[in-house]
Amino acid sequence: MTHSTDHNQTLFERAKALIPGGVNSPVRAFRAVGGTPRFIARAQGPYMWDADGKKYIDYIGSWGPMILGHGHPAVLEAVQKAALEGFSFGAPTEREVELAEEIIRHVPSMEMIRLVSSGTEAGMSAIRLARGATGRSKIIKFNGCYHGHADSLLVKAGSGLATFGHATSAGVPPEVVQHTLVLEYNDVAQLEEAFALHGKDVACVIMEPIAGNMNFVRASTAFMRRARELCTQNGALLVIDEVMTGFRVALGSAQGLYAQQIPGFKPDLTVLGKVIGGGMPLAAFGGPRAIMEQLAPLGPVYQAGTLSGNPVATACGLATLREIAKPGFYEALATRTRSLVDGLAGAAKAAGVPFCADSQGGMFGFFLLPELPQNYPEVLKTDGAKFNQLFHGLLDGGVYIAPALYEAGFVSSAHSAQDIEDTVALAREVFAKL
Ligand code: PLP
Repeated sequence: MTHSTDHNQTLFERAKALIPGGVNSPVRAFRAVGGTPRFIARAQGPYMWDADGKKYIDYIGSWGPMILGHGHPAVLEAVQKAALEGFSFGAPTEREVELAEEIIRHVPSMEMIRLVSSGTEAGMSAIRLARGATGRSKIIKFNGCYHGHADSLLVKAGSGLATFGHATSAGVPPEVVQHTLVLEYNDVAQLEEAFALHGKDVACVIMEPIAGNMNFVRASTAFMRRARELCTQNGALLVIDEVMTGFRVALGSAQGLYAQQIPGFKPDLTVLGKVIGGGMPLAAFGGPRAIMEQLAPLGPVYQAGTLSGNPVATACGLATLREIAKPGFYEALATRTRSLVDGLAGAAKAAGVPFCADSQGGMFGFFLLPELPQNYPEVLKTDGAKFNQLFHGLLDGGVYIAPALYEAGFVSSAHSAQDIEDTVALAREVFAKL
């Protein structure tokens, strides 16, 4: 089942001798699904080729950034030009201003923005800013949401609302997570109770608006509305982590979609990454001027970075954002993504496999479950063994989806109707064997 060829295996052996697990980010190691990770040699449009020259239709898109597919000509040109001008100056550039303007134009809840190099850094900095701006220590996060690997966010729930979290990673002292309260996603009553108990000590609530680290679970409108109200009433900040959803689910990002349901809705702080860098290390956080001016050098909250606002990364992000802002981009992307999800649902149904799926813009998720889950315990009911069979069947047939059932999938504007048809045809064969 876990067919793998020589070059991938040889490279994996070499990598394992020098790099823990053979990878520089754990999910790449295929530990959840077994088998040999594919070492990618190159990519173009919606395709990637591994070290053996085998071609895959790519539904990971570097875990989200590659919304235009790989090697989009306008992006490539911008990056090449920027590289010739210089890799890094450690001084301000016009392009940082242009990128800030472009982001804020589409996500107006951010009056000011700071650029960093990874989603982890952006989330960590947003939490520090929320604590600095409110003078409070406690933060609320939700079970199954991922906000990067900052110490205070690597937490699982304690035994009740009165006990704060336990670290999920060795190396994180209990004192570091003692201020993090972990609640169930989409549970309005629990959130209300938590605020009743701790409201005046809460610096912020941080959440993924569509939880892509639980594959694909939407925050219900009622949950988002109540989170906003409770934060406002208690003087806490609402931090929306749009590292994955930002410019992926809509040009106005997920918060723009919630604003259509909840009049006047906006978060206090927004965390962005992935698409805004177009595949280069670039992320950001932003919010109202009064809060953002708490950051150094204006205010007392320290935050910095040698490579922040890197000139090549900003060129890549800016060229990407200019392409996706063109009229009709998201309509076409959403239609294509929806056709994949519908096709997969049809293939599963024909084979009698329990299946449900959802998508928004160019982001999708599916579960081998009869109904869409609303929180992490429900996501965990997925049949992992069946998912692994599906994963390897697709991979062997040349379709590359995330090697873990907790991960969302991504369609790019480079995926053609034929790519979707080919994927669905293969899925039909694989589902029939599950
Ligand atoms: N926040 C969310 C919602 C994410 O999905 C991720 C990464 O997948 C992060 C934060 C962390 O971003 P990075 O991997 O760039 O540090």
